[in-house]
Amino acid sequence: MQKRDLLNRLNSGPVICAEGFLFEIEKRGYMSSGEFVPMVSLDHPEVLENLHKEFQHAGSDIVQAFTYNGHREKMRVIGKEELLEPLNRSALRIAKNVADNTSGEEQNLMAGNISNSNIWKQDDKNSQLEVEKMFNEMVGWAVDEGADMLIGETFYYAEEAYMALKVMKQTKLPTVITIAPYGQNIMRDNVSIIDTCKELEQQGGDVVGMNCHRGPNTMMPYLKEIRKVLKCHMAGLPIAYRTTNKNPTFFNLPDDNGCTCPTPHKTTFPTALDPMQCNRYEIKNFAEEAYSIGINYLGVCCGANPMLIRELAEAVGLNVPASKYRENMDNHYMFGINKRIPKHIKDYRKKA
Ligand SMILES: [Zn+2]
Repeated sequence: MQKRDLLNRLNSGPVICAEGFLFEIEKRGYMSSGEFVPMVSLDHPEVLENLHKEFQHAGSDIVQAFTYNGHREKMRVIGKEELLEPLNRSALRIAKNVADNTSGEEQNLMAGNISNSNIWKQDDKNSQLEVEKMFNEMVGWAVDEGADMLIGETFYYAEEAYMALKVMKQTKLPTVITIAPYGQNIMRDNVSIIDTCKELEQQGGDVVGMNCHRGPNTMMPYLKEIRKVLKCHMAGLPIAYRTTNKNPTFFNLPDDNGCTCPTPHKTTFPTALDPMQCNRYEIKNFAEEAYSIGINYLGVCCGANPMLIRELAEAVGLNVPASKYRENMDNHYMFGINKRIPKHIKDYRKKA
């Protein structure tokens, strides 16, 4: 089976990367929300493997090892530091196995993954050295387990993203590096979104862009600005939620759709975002627009599900295994046009 490297694929068209494992595994009942540690690779490897397969079926070209938050600091927080390496290796092996058994036309790529450490502190050499060590060990395991590429993501400190890129680049594998600025629309170390991306390109990132925190509405304006100044390939992986200019990220996004809980919740993040979920057509619009301005690396982060990944892939012209089951309203019992649908059923549509 054909297996081109990441850049070859990007040079000739779109590449789809399904993300959002944290939210989806939590919804399936195998992870604690808030705590968000990906113990699933050890506790229920079959569940993680199956989600990878579903995303692959829906058109993901990349199987991203689920090691997000599976870093030394998080394992210390939950008192299970001794499980750090087994967790990482298990997640990598599950991803590798799914990638090696692709059902589509071209073999998937397996990606190792590092992300925001949440201990990075500006001008604090000790915390930065600690983060560098965390990145190094995780990248080492990813290379060991046969990663085809590396993804560094969800960085809200510019300098932390630069560090992640530096560590990833030492492996010579293709790199994707994406940032996730908060609602103030600037990195926490006061570097602008555009300047951060320019610097990441300068420092040799193969694919540079944005992921997480922002839905299509509040990510797209920045992607457009970044596209104007970058020459390298770009990535766009929004969350699947309707963020607004007033609340550009999902962290403080209110539920204005009429939540009926007797005790109103202060925020909806991360457990009550459901009413603000983007539908498939919104994701389709995002993908079409992003691809039309030259962003070839596309995906969905938190809130992703296989249906949205299929929509994204089809929006950029791909036919994927799950396309076989895309919607067919023609045969709907009331809204269809099939000649077997009785007139008295069709006539009732407006009252349904
Ligand atoms: Zn996310």
